[in-house]
Order: sequence, then C-alpha cells, then structure tokens
Amino acid sequence: MLPYQPGKPITEVARELGLVETDIIKLASNENPLGASPKAVHAARAALDQVARYPDGNGFLLKQALAKQHGVSPDSIVLGNGSNDVLELAAIAFLGPGTSSVYAQHCFVVNRLATQARGAEGVEVPASGFGHDLGRMCEAVREDTRILFLSNPNNPTGTFVAPKTVRDFLRRVPDHVLVVLDEAYYEYLAPEQQSGSTGWLSEFPNLLVTRTFSKAHGLAGLRVGYGVASPAVADLMNRVRQPFNVSNIAQAAALAALGDTAFIKKSVELNRAGMAQLTSGFASLSLAWIPSSGNFVSVAVGDAGEVFRQLLQRGVIVRPVGNYGLPEHLRVSVGLEPENHRLLETLAAVLRRT
Ligand code: PMP
Repeated sequence: MLPYQPGKPITEVARELGLVETDIIKLASNENPLGASPKAVHAARAALDQVARYPDGNGFLLKQALAKQHGVSPDSIVLGNGSNDVLELAAIAFLGPGTSSVYAQHCFVVNRLATQARGAEGVEVPASGFGHDLGRMCEAVREDTRILFLSNPNNPTGTFVAPKTVRDFLRRVPDHVLVVLDEAYYEYLAPEQQSGSTGWLSEFPNLLVTRTFSKAHGLAGLRVGYGVASPAVADLMNRVRQPFNVSNIAQAAALAALGDTAFIKKSVELNRAGMAQLTSGFASLSLAWIPSSGNFVSVAVGDAGEVFRQLLQRGVIVRPVGNYGLPEHLRVSVGLEPENHRLLETLAAVLRRT
C-alpha cells in the first residue's frame, strides 16, 4: 500500500533546492489562498487560553451550529480531525476482512487507503471521461459491499455529478451499502450544483455526507471536518472515533468560520475568477484540462513528472497525479491572481524547453 502523498511544503522545497521561502508559491494542496476568516483566527487565538483543558469530546456548540445549518439533529453529526478522519471512521465502522468497498478509478485516494487499512477489498470501477460511471458503480456492488465512495466533485479530476443524477443513483443502491458522499468542495459549487444532500437523509438512511472546513473556510491546518448521517450511522461512527479527535482550538475556529459567510463568499468569488484565469491561460498554451468544479484543475502537460520537477526548480509547487493513474496531468490549485499568473508564465517557459 503506497502512503498518501501530500503536496510538498514550501519549507521542504526551499531546503532541498536552496531557494528562498518567500520566492516559492504553493498551488499543490487545494488550500484557500486567502488564508482563513479573520473571525476564525481570532476565535482560535482566544481558545488558546483553554489548551490545558481537554476539548469538549462531544463538540456541543459546533454540532449545534451544524445541525441548525443542515436542518438535522445534533446526533446526526460526526466531527472529525479533517473530513479525512470521517472517511476513515466510516471505514472502521463498516469495513473489515470479508467485506468490500466500491470506488471509481481516479477517485480520492483515501477511499482506497482506508479500505486497504481495514483488510477489506477495494473494487475500482473504470472512469468514464475521467468522472464517476454511476451505472457501472451500481453494478459493481456485491453481497459483501458495505461502502460505496462517491467524491463530488472528485479530487484530483474535479469532475462533478449533478444532484439529480446522484439522487436517482441513491435510489438504486441497495440498503446494505453505505454511500459516502464526499463533498469537501461543496462551497465552491455553483448554486444550481449545490445538492442540499444533507436534506436527503430521511429518504436515504444509508447515506453519509462529508464536508470540511479545510477548503473554502481556510482551516486546513487545524484539521476539522464532519459527517452528516442518520443517527444510527452517526452513532456507530462516534463509537469508533478517538474521544478528543477535534481540538478545542479547531472547534472554536470552525464555529466562527461557519458564521463568516462574507469570507466564504469572497473565497468562492476569488476561486471563480482564478479558475477562469488558469483555464484561459491553459487554452492559450494549447493545453487540455479536465473541467473542474473544485478549487483546483488538472491539466495535461505531457511528461508531467518532468514538468513538475522543472516547475519546482523555479519555485512553483503543483501536484503530479501519476499515482491517480493520470501520468500526463498536473493538478494546480487555484491561487491568488499573481500566483496564477506566475504559474502560467513559468509553465509556458518550462514547456518551451521540454
Ligand atoms: N475529500 C476530498 C475529495 C479531498 O480532496 C480532501 C482533501 N484533499 C479531503 C476529503 C480531506 O480533506 P480534510 O481532511 O482536510 O477535510
């Protein structure tokens, strides 16, 4: 099993290549280029006064706020050390030897890693045009299947399945399978793409929706995400999590971030403009990209490993996605306007040489 390969940190690249940290830009981990909401940062600072105390293991205030936002009861919510933790909790609660999970080719790698870590079998369904082939995924479900993972939008492809299609799909998935609908990039979706999936739980008790504060809320470093499910599913997951899996600083910051809708709006607008800037730049370079509904885009550059290395030497960190079965693509996170500009300029220079 290959370990998860994160985006290279700026400090590591500076050390390895002898570059100055401030000259390096990182567009490699789908982070929020605006940082975090100042209100969240303020709340995190204030929470520092309480670090001698264990956090509220039940996350009362944050769960109350999330329950209100999603129109569910607090016992439908599972808090996680990032939504990554929530995906793993689902695997711990539902998978083990003699069971299987179903996921798509090119899907978020944690689905496979969490399955393998439980000694369960992963059934990978070939993608259709880089995206999920829901028909084939449904057909791949077996007697021993316990989880079906659907990342929407998916990382690293950015491909998206429309809400109506997802809902029709849920009607077809057998009851013995938990559908894990990973919506880490939900806030970036256009209004007509936003499914309101957490409102579907009464119809689908076998649905788990996961969301995160790492992306549009800008709290990737604090590690906080959550799942929304039927109380029975949430209860099983809460039983297997660590009692204090979300720190008091993370809980306080997430609560404040949730209320700062102006910051989220600004982040989403910046992403929309940045995505247009990047894709029109790719078009001018005659490069093909996979249309993305997230805060990142994968672009085909030929020998992606080589282009990645040359970009790195020029202080631009992006993400090669060969481990996702996409050896010709690089995944670029949408950055600030000057960062996107520098990526495009540097990419043009590198491509002229390769
Ligand atoms: N799901 C998807 C599709 C992702 O891209 C990511 C982040 N790379 C995650 C889940 C996990 O993010 P986090 O643990 O920071 O919430």
